[in-house]
Amino acid sequence: MKENKKKLTDLNHIGEFGLIDLITKDFEIVNESTELSIGDDAAILDYKNQKSIVTTDMLVEGVHFDLSYFPLKHLGYKAVVSSISDICAMYGITKQITVSIAVSNRFKLESIQELYSGIKLACKRYNVDLVGGDTTSSMKGLVISVTAIGCANESGYVKRSESQINDLILVTGSLGGAYLGLQVLEREKQVFLVNPNNKPDLSKYKYVVERQLKPEAKSEVIDFLMENKIKPTSMIDISDGLSSEIIHLCKSSGKGCRIYEEKLPILKTTMDICKEFKLEPSTIALSGGEDYELLFTINSKDFEKIENHNEFTVIGHITSETGINLITKDGKTTPITSMGWKSF
Ligand code: ADP
Ligand code: MG
Repeated sequence: MKENKKKLTDLNHIGEFGLIDLITKDFEIVNESTELSIGDDAAILDYKNQKSIVTTDMLVEGVHFDLSYFPLKHLGYKAVVSSISDICAMYGITKQITVSIAVSNRFKLESIQELYSGIKLACKRYNVDLVGGDTTSSMKGLVISVTAIGCANESGYVKRSESQINDLILVTGSLGGAYLGLQVLEREKQVFLVNPNNKPDLSKYKYVVERQLKPEAKSEVIDFLMENKIKPTSMIDISDGLSSEIIHLCKSSGKGCRIYEEKLPILKTTMDICKEFKLEPSTIALSGGEDYELLFTINSKDFEKIENHNEFTVIGHITSETGINLITKDGKTTPITSMGWKSF
């Protein structure tokens, strides 16, 4: 590998305030609700008479990401997306974020700037203002925490707990890609450790690797639902896999469900890569995490408003009995567990 000859800047040369200044100076404020941003002891937001929605996510090096294959720019982007996805899941629109980082002295200024270039890209893409954060040192590794703040529209927010019997269960996009992307990256890392001269050809895996390294939040889906006055009865984002999220949703609602295996939205490319890894596509769709899709329920009278929209797939319905069940392709009924489903 070619050595990177560029001189990198030690963080202790510029100090904490120098660092904060350098990483935050290029951010623009685009939202009216941001009254006061970075530079004071706290930010001031003005949501007039709207309800505000707040969520926080923390990512820890070695636990949630591995920098040997996760570029810092992508990490910044993904950290923001994952918080925006939680606001989406409340039927909200994200307006502001704060970002807190803990960095060890192994990191140079240029690396932190890379991280912030991803954060900035996400802010631009989703019309979000960076209004504050905190910067501190860590003994080892990188920690990044993003708090997202947003608001509901006049029709209100959506909880996990209000699904009703006979509601349709829908999911956005397609499932399983992000998990497979991680499998591909982990495999390439192992190959690289054995033979550093090996140049991986990831073109065949572009889609799944992108699902892992550059996920998007479903904010346009929320815009569409709001514009068409479709208010889900319950909603949750799929960050830990469909099976564990459907269990959360049903348990909070005190209901059961039937999910049809044949309805799970899985792309052909995902299926092909499953085959290569000797994985079962339905298992991956149910248990693979980090897809950042939305899982929600609607009253069946709203169905005609979305049936022609290719973003949505009806995968089942809410039932009066409390069992959380999968109807398999061969017609068997089997309980869904947070790891997938009980196959016997
Ligand atoms: P304080 O001493 O009050 O905690 P800081 O010196 O940590 O203030 O921060 C100064 C300003 O910079 C504040 O507006 C804070 O929100 C912002 N800030 C600090 N660190 C970050 C960061 N990593 N990303 C974005 N904004 C930050
Ligand atoms: Mg501080």
